[in-house]
Amino acid sequence: MKVTDVKITRFTYMSQSIRDTDGHGHAAPKDQAHEAVQNVLTIETDEGISGHYFGAANPGTITGEWREYLVGKDPLYREMIWHNLKNRQRSHKPTMADRVLTAVDLALWDIGGKAAGMPVHKLLGAARDKVPAYASTMVGDDVPGGLDTPEAYARYAIQCKERGYPAFKLHTWQPPLEGAPSVKRDIAACAAVREAVGPDYPLMLDPYHNYSRLEALELANGIYELGYLWMEEPMDEHNMSSYVWLCEQTKLPICGPETAEGKMYVRAEWIKAGACDMVRSGCGDVGGLTPLMKCVHLAEAFGMHLEVHSPGVGNLHALGAMVSPGLYYERGLLHPFVDYDATPPWLNEPVDPMDSEGFVHISQNPGLGLNINWDYIHSHKVD
Ligand code: MG
Repeated sequence: MKVTDVKITRFTYMSQSIRDTDGHGHAAPKDQAHEAVQNVLTIETDEGISGHYFGAANPGTITGEWREYLVGKDPLYREMIWHNLKNRQRSHKPTMADRVLTAVDLALWDIGGKAAGMPVHKLLGAARDKVPAYASTMVGDDVPGGLDTPEAYARYAIQCKERGYPAFKLHTWQPPLEGAPSVKRDIAACAAVREAVGPDYPLMLDPYHNYSRLEALELANGIYELGYLWMEEPMDEHNMSSYVWLCEQTKLPICGPETAEGKMYVRAEWIKAGACDMVRSGCGDVGGLTPLMKCVHLAEAFGMHLEVHSPGVGNLHALGAMVSPGLYYERGLLHPFVDYDATPPWLNEPVDPMDSEGFVHISQNPGLGLNINWDYIHSHKVD
C-alpha cells in the first residue's frame, strides 16, 4: 500500500464555546453562538482506503513541507513514519508541533485499522470495549447559572453524577477572570463539591497552572483532607524540581506531566525524578497514539497509573488497549450550558457515547470508527 495524497478540508460550524485571552474555553452565552472553522485531515492510498483525523494543527505544514514524508510511503509503517517526522522536528519546532504529528499518526492508525478490518484498540491488542468516564468541567467563569461559585460547581457535580458519571473533575477559576487565581476559593469549590456528592465519590482537581510551591502545597493538602483522588498541573511543568518538592511534601497524588513538551522522554525523566505519583499523557500532548502507547507501557513498567488526558477517539482506543492502570476516560469539557452529548454536525454519531452507568463505548468499526457526515462537510466547505 502507498500514500497517494494528503489533504486538509476546512469547513464551518456553529460553536457553543468561546476562548478567553488566556486560551481557556468557556460556554458562549446562548445568543452568542458563532461560526467557527474545523478541519479534517485525509490521507489517501492507492488501495482506496483513506484515513481521517479532525482538528489538525497547522494544516498547511502537513500538506506542504511534510508531504515528502508521507506521499509514496507505505502507511502501515506508522512507527518509521512517526520517527522520521519526530526527528525532523529538531530544527522545525515552530511549524512541526506535536499536534501536527498527532493528526498524521491518528490518520495512519485509521488506515491501519481499516486495512486490517478491525478497530484500532483491537489492532493494538484490546483489553476492553468500554471505559468509565469522568465529568471534566470547563474552567470557572462569572456567568450566573454557569460555574461562577463553589455552590454552582456543587450543583453541577450532582447533575453529572445523576447523568451517570462515576467521577468528577473541577477545572477552577483562571486569569483573566477577576479574583483568580485563589487557593482559598479553589478549596472552597472542592469542599462544596465533596459535600454535595458524598464521601465516596471520586473527585479530582485541575487548578491554575502557575501557582507557587507554597500555594500548590496549601491546595494539595487542603483537598487531600477532602479525599480527592489526584491534582494536575498546579505549577509550570517546566519546573520539574518544584514537582519533586511537592510530591515529597504532600500525601495527595500528583498527576503529570500533561503539557510539558518531550513526549515519552520527559515522562521517563519525571518518573525517575519522583516528580509525579501518576503519569499523564494524551495523543495531543505527545504526538499521537504511537508515542502515547510508549508512555502507557512506560508507566505500566513502573507500576504507575497513566491517566489519559483529554477526550478524543485516539485516547479512547488507547484506553481500550490498557488493562490497568488507567482509570478513566476524560469526557468534556463540560458546562451547564453546553450539550456535550449532542453529535457534532460533521459526524453522524458521537465518538464517545456514554451509557447511564458512565461507560463510554469504543466503536467496533474498522479504524478509528469515525462515522463522518461528508454531506455536511462538503456543503460547509471553505477555502
Ligand atoms: Mg489537565
